Amino acid sequence: MLRNDKLDQWDRENFFHPSTHLAQHARGEAPNRIIETASGVHIEDRDGNKLLDAFAGLYCVNVGYGRQEIADAIAEQAKKLAYYHAYVGHGTEASITLSKMILDRAPDNMSKVYFGLGGSDANETNIKLVWYYNNILGRPQKKKIISRWRGYHGSGLMTGSLTGLELFHKKFDLPFDNVLHTEAPYYFRRPDVNMSEADFVAHCAAELEALIAREGADTIAAFIGEPAMGTGGLVPPSAGYWDAIQPILKKHDILLIADEVVTGFGRLGSMFGSGHYGIEADIITIAKGLTSAYAPLSGSIISNRVWDVLMKGTDETGPIGHGWTYSAHPIGAAAAIANLKLVDSLGLVSNAGETGAYLKQALTEAIGDHPSVGEIRGEGLLIAAEFVEDRETRTFFDPSRKIGPALATALIQNGVIARAMPQGDILGFAPPLCLTKEEADIIAAAVKNAVTTVLG
Ligand code: PMP
Repeated sequence: MLRNDKLDQWDRENFFHPSTHLAQHARGEAPNRIIETASGVHIEDRDGNKLLDAFAGLYCVNVGYGRQEIADAIAEQAKKLAYYHAYVGHGTEASITLSKMILDRAPDNMSKVYFGLGGSDANETNIKLVWYYNNILGRPQKKKIISRWRGYHGSGLMTGSLTGLELFHKKFDLPFDNVLHTEAPYYFRRPDVNMSEADFVAHCAAELEALIAREGADTIAAFIGEPAMGTGGLVPPSAGYWDAIQPILKKHDILLIADEVVTGFGRLGSMFGSGHYGIEADIITIAKGLTSAYAPLSGSIISNRVWDVLMKGTDETGPIGHGWTYSAHPIGAAAAIANLKLVDSLGLVSNAGETGAYLKQALTEAIGDHPSVGEIRGEGLLIAAEFVEDRETRTFFDPSRKIGPALATALIQNGVIARAMPQGDILGFAPPLCLTKEEADIIAAAVKNAVTTVLG
């Protein structure tokens, strides 16, 4: 095929990239990498650079790139039935089969799956359903939603509000008033370095209690949280956090939404983060690992408790007034079925646990003693290294030095992609769940080189 030499120019002239410094990109000051092919854990750009993708795209390509089984399933579905909608009781073999496969894997108290396209729209659905639920129960004031600072729940209007990262609010007139943020279980960033982990968890619980008391429990509908935090810094919860939080929510009749967009389908070494941490959610959000990003598809898994009220509601309101054209898209569903079969047949959930522990250890051996490494943390294949100016006093680098992005760039020069997380100097590692120990060693060696280059 003739190479299109205009691609770089067309990119800068025509393409509005998400989450990008638009001016720098348009002026050609920031690198644009045009990806051409991928296989296993590697991607290759059009200049022939082959990189080990230790962030699985945006922690979504869980089964790795180039899986023939999923490509075939998508092609067969496209030929047989590319599309039909799911409104007024319509379905396809793929969407119905997938619903059953998800429920078979989900916690026991779950009842139905509503399908969307991405994590953001699934969380928008969840908030609407929670509002509908409370209206049907005759408590129209119970509508506010609590999320955590540094939580990530999407880029929509409500979901961008729920996201507790400044960048996603700035100049967008977000967050909305009906969203409340509370302390995240991020022990490394505890307010007082001398606080024990148990005291920090008690502090998070007390903050939540105080917020509920201040606002009034009768005004709060739901609490949303990622079982282990992703975009906010790849932070497993402090020990005992979920055990401390859940009784408070129960006491105040506040629904719990577990946002498992990242943690669902194996990333922590368990099928769901909810099972991993003993979370009993009323709604679970799924996306990314559902199809390993071979096609866009997300879902809201609804518990029996919520479902019963929704059913009752439609006797009152008529059909539920919420639907997307592409809800339960057959091509997404076919991709998800093939993907979930691969997750099972390749044993990827247990591999994530085992190889994740191995990668964390390898990173600790490679850079754990470096004076700028504040913490290496993670569970399964969701691992972060956080960098600080002084680890004795836990002094963070001045953000203007952009140490995180500099490390990510140096790492690319060593053949590995990790993600510089948006807030703090944090390198995130969330590779495909098929990662091998040899590949983990390659990542750790590259990280060591990058750290030496940037920090000495
Ligand atoms: N929830 C979580 C936990 C996420 O990590 C993300 C995406 N990174 C989303 C929601 C939003 O998903 P999407 O980008 O597919 O809309």
